Amino acid sequence: MGARVDIAIVGGGIIGVCAAYELAGEGRSVAVLEREDICAIGGATHSNAGLITPSDVYPLASPGALGKGMRWLLDSGSPFYIAPQARPRLGRWLWMFSRASAKQRAEKAMPVQRALLRASADLWTEIAAVPGVELGYEQRGWLWSFHDRAAWEAGVAEAAEAARFGAASAAWDAGRMFDEVPGLAPGVCGGVFYPEDAHCDPRRAVEELARLAAGKGADLRPRTEVLDIECNGRLITRLVTTRGEIVADTVVLAAGSWSPLLGRRLRLDLPIEPAKGYGVTVPRPTAVRELPLYEAAGHVAITPMGDRLRLAGTLELGGLDTRIRWNRVAAIRRGAGEVLAGAAQLEPLELWRGLRPCTPDGLPIIGRSPRHDNLIVAAGHCMLGLGLGPITGRLVAQLVNGREPQIDLAPLRVERFSELARPSLPRPMVAQRT
Ligand SMILES: Cc1cc2nc3c(=O)[nH]c(=O)nc-3n(C[C@H](O)[C@H](O)[C@H](O)COP(=O)(O)OP(=O)(O)OC[C@H]3O[C@@H](n4cnc5c(N)ncnc54)[C@H](O)[C@@H]3O)c2cc1C
Repeated sequence: MGARVDIAIVGGGIIGVCAAYELAGEGRSVAVLEREDICAIGGATHSNAGLITPSDVYPLASPGALGKGMRWLLDSGSPFYIAPQARPRLGRWLWMFSRASAKQRAEKAMPVQRALLRASADLWTEIAAVPGVELGYEQRGWLWSFHDRAAWEAGVAEAAEAARFGAASAAWDAGRMFDEVPGLAPGVCGGVFYPEDAHCDPRRAVEELARLAAGKGADLRPRTEVLDIECNGRLITRLVTTRGEIVADTVVLAAGSWSPLLGRRLRLDLPIEPAKGYGVTVPRPTAVRELPLYEAAGHVAITPMGDRLRLAGTLELGGLDTRIRWNRVAAIRRGAGEVLAGAAQLEPLELWRGLRPCTPDGLPIIGRSPRHDNLIVAAGHCMLGLGLGPITGRLVAQLVNGREPQIDLAPLRVERFSELARPSLPRPMVAQRT
């Protein structure tokens, strides 16, 4: 018989730590099992772009996303790249992604994503206001920058579309851009400003949340890898870890891109593909304002974090491979230079890569396992895990404690993928009138 806890959380990234924070706050005995350190350098959260973006209503799977991806397919320096590989899992994921990108489906996902992000942004504001907590949190908005008129107009149209779901924005012409952004690179022709958005230092944020959770009694166990999960029928009975066995009433699977590996041990299919991105940290020039920027053409985020700037971007579907592709790192630095003059020449202080856990429809998986009575999945947060962490933590706590989740979890269930994976049936033949 191993050590006993009410809830064992597998994974100590933003999602696992937010769940621990909520559950410990409700007086439950909770352990976080993390194979590296809390907020592992090898996880997806450590040095991400730090953006909390309730404005981001477009899920990863949106109309046109696949078309763009296909155009960029052969260019390993492009913002979206699929490394050549023969993995049936990836083929199936891409099939589901293409189906999820259909206009009707994406339209259904947008209000879901918005509701999650908005609720989470409010929770971030509450967390940042806890006395003594230092996350580097600032709510200054997010400014997208465009270099050609057609792209700017498309950006303004996208923002108008996002407004249907409640996301506020303002179109800025070149004059306004140069007034507001000292050091703006020449050639910028316009921007879109999203005032609701915020940013923080992701590593500090997770470490602070972990500290708060520990203060409420959570048992944080770094360097504890979950090797196996044993079941008896529909019940998980034991977790086998590198530091002994654990028995828990409820298990929360929050292992990011590695969740499918543990899912397989439980005969639970989780279609999550790792999507590699890079964070390049450079010194922040003194003139650069506390305003996160985005180079829209190259999809490069530029986030101020204290005396540093975090340049982040690219999305590479290449499995769990963490090799660095230098041309992609160069593309990120170049992209930053397109917005901030001289940014491409800033000497990197740190280079990091992380694997975003991406579902084919771009929405996270939050809900009970269909095969197990005491397993909750909280994974697959794609590009938005930092922003979504607090609401996911709250929803997990509501599920564990048998309360009605504050947001309808039907669109986030694991089961949704079986419909998405189904081959589309040929349309029935209809006799044509002549
Ligand atoms: C370059 C880049 C920029 C990004 N920018 C942003 C941004 O600005 N805003 C935003 O909202 N999101 C951003 N994201 C996405 C965000 O970082 C992810 O969605 C989020 O970090 C996922 O969190 P997670 O806790 O699910 O996974 P992770 O942080 O990866 O945590 C999972 C943890 O599980 C552990 N683990 C795995 N297997 C086991 C096991 N068997 N036993 C024990 N532990 C295990 C891992 O070590 C890891 O620490 C970005 C991602 C990248 C790569």
